[in-house]
Amino acid sequence: MKVYNTLNNRKEEFVPIEEGKVRMYVCGPTVYNYIHIGNARPMIVFDTVRRYLEYKGYDVNYVSNFTDVDDKIIAKSIEEGVTAAEIAERYTKAAIEDMEGMNVRPATVHPKATEEIDGMIDMIQTLIDKGYAYEKNGTVFYRTRKFKGYGKLSGKNLDDLSAGIRIAVDDEKEDPMDFVLWKPKKEGEPSWTSPWGEGRPGWHIECSVMSNKYLGSSIDIHAGGEDLIFPHHENEIAQSEAANGVPFSNYWMHNAFLNINNHKMSKSAGNFFTVKEIAAKYPLQVLRFFMLSAHYRSPLNFSDDLMASAAASLERIRNAVSRLRFIADSDTEKTSDNGSTDEEYRSKLLELKNKFEAAMEDDFNTADAIAAIFEIVKAANSHIDSRSSAEIINETLDTIISLCGILGIICEEKEELLDADIEALINERQAARKERNFARADEIRDELEKKGIILEDTREGVRWKRA
Ligand SMILES: [Zn+2]
Repeated sequence: MKVYNTLNNRKEEFVPIEEGKVRMYVCGPTVYNYIHIGNARPMIVFDTVRRYLEYKGYDVNYVSNFTDVDDKIIAKSIEEGVTAAEIAERYTKAAIEDMEGMNVRPATVHPKATEEIDGMIDMIQTLIDKGYAYEKNGTVFYRTRKFKGYGKLSGKNLDDLSAGIRIAVDDEKEDPMDFVLWKPKKEGEPSWTSPWGEGRPGWHIECSVMSNKYLGSSIDIHAGGEDLIFPHHENEIAQSEAANGVPFSNYWMHNAFLNINNHKMSKSAGNFFTVKEIAAKYPLQVLRFFMLSAHYRSPLNFSDDLMASAAASLERIRNAVSRLRFIADSDTEKTSDNGSTDEEYRSKLLELKNKFEAAMEDDFNTADAIAAIFEIVKAANSHIDSRSSAEIINETLDTIISLCGILGIICEEKEELLDADIEALINERQAARKERNFARADEIRDELEKKGIILEDTREGVRWKRA
């Protein structure tokens, strides 16, 4: 499997540190507003990477943070006259809802910055002790020139970066490129006690600390949008490698940006959509399909026309699946074997499944992977009919559904039972049991189980949950 590594600017064979395991960190959103579709791209892309790695049999430890203390959160809290914690909680909840809608699986761990302050203080102290950081009047800065590898991810060099930047007379930095690890409290801001006084952490230090805590000092993949390469990821490398003395991440993956109607996304230009705004117009599965229809390292243009075409493409797959399901469930006479044409079709299916995998093995080329699914759909539409054998229909269904599943694309809507329907069935089962009609009671239990509802008989009555 080849992965494009931003650290070396080339595709490299993927070899994890520990066989069979992948430690992966993806920078998460700052929760000061509803997430926008620019935030959605890395969420969908790296969730797909994770799903493919799991399909390959890797045990993936996937960590993605919520930045819940930040200037923007504080500004919003002042604007609304509520606490910063309230803002962060509201938009974290909203982000989780949006992720569910896009079928982005929850991370193994979703750490929150405000719950990891002790670890940040420890790492900052280590950096001071090792000479990589210094404190001036309550602010702690990272001493960039001390870290020899600074610029290795972004390809920037410190002299070029600092050319033309003059330090103001009252500036506390030793060098213009030094960045903040800890900043002193301002009136009305959330703060924590530290050896350098009351204050709060800078943004970059959180990811270094959370990655280290949940995944260890060296990890396999660190990922995010390409806008994070500099300075965020460059600074993370400087912090982590200086503090831990080992390489931070072996592979750095970055998705390209998203344009809106061929223009840069910008709030002031009105070129800005939240995931919730999109959800009001399209099912979020369409957004996911749209995002994966391009390779993650290619810039992607968002427009209504392109979304409509993504919706039509997804519909084509779903129609094929529902036709296959209809044939499978119908009582028409099925031939047990179609002889040589079935054999030919089977080898075509296998060939296309391999094509899907080859595309994914080549730096997660979801565009080509989706093209392979369409070829399967085309082959199925022409080969499968009402006389096809149950085996070949099911094989086709399994293939399409499982390949779509690797991309997080749901191509068959399961009939969802509403809560009220479930309650009604549970009541009917209770009544049947009272009448000692255990056959009917068991029947209802089985029926619910088939739809993913698990019943639990407790002393307080029957409780149920979705499997
Ligand atoms: Zn980060």
